[in-house]
Amino acid sequence: MESLNEQYKKVVEEREKLIKQIDDLQKDENVKLYLESISQNNQLIHKQEKLYQKLKTEEYASCNHIWITALHDYDSNYCGCIKCGLDQIVFRPDCHTYYHLLTLDQKIMYDFFESNDRLALRQGIKTKIFCDLDLAKAIYSRIKNSHPNIDDKTAIKYFKVALNDIRHIKVSKERKKNRAKRLSLGPNFKNWKAKDVMK
Ligand SMILES: [Zn+2]
Repeated sequence: MESLNEQYKKVVEEREKLIKQIDDLQKDENVKLYLESISQNNQLIHKQEKLYQKLKTEEYASCNHIWITALHDYDSNYCGCIKCGLDQIVFRPDCHTYYHLLTLDQKIMYDFFESNDRLALRQGIKTKIFCDLDLAKAIYSRIKNSHPNIDDKTAIKYFKVALNDIRHIKVSKERKKNRAKRLSLGPNFKNWKAKDVMK
């Protein structure tokens, strides 16, 4: 068996060779270009993220929200806006503790709520509708597509009718799958009923 000393020496030698190789490669024009491109791309990722954050923040700030209850958890209701997607779910106690684990979108929402004292929750219209937020957003966006100039009150009326049809008209499993697909919810979407958001 090689002694530890020999093993160590071998690694040092191998690294010396590699360091020389890396030095030589860095002089190559293509490698230079490659490294520069990586660095530029990283800078742009950062810039893109910052701009995305600003865009979403502006969207949330300018939305006259329509709130539904997207989750009823123990004694708390967590509301979400069917228009801009602002979702109070980021205030669930576990999200609060694990801020670093939130997605970029969730972090933007959390920061938005915090930066204006959660004032957003008092703006717009509060409905008594219990609904999965993805489903609600999909229904609203279809209504908005067919009626681009619709006012909020009429949109809520149409929304309730559409949701009622979805919940009370019996359809086969296959048609449910197709409906989920049409609403871009993924074929395995299951949260059609009000009780699905009550945990
Ligand atoms: Zn909104």
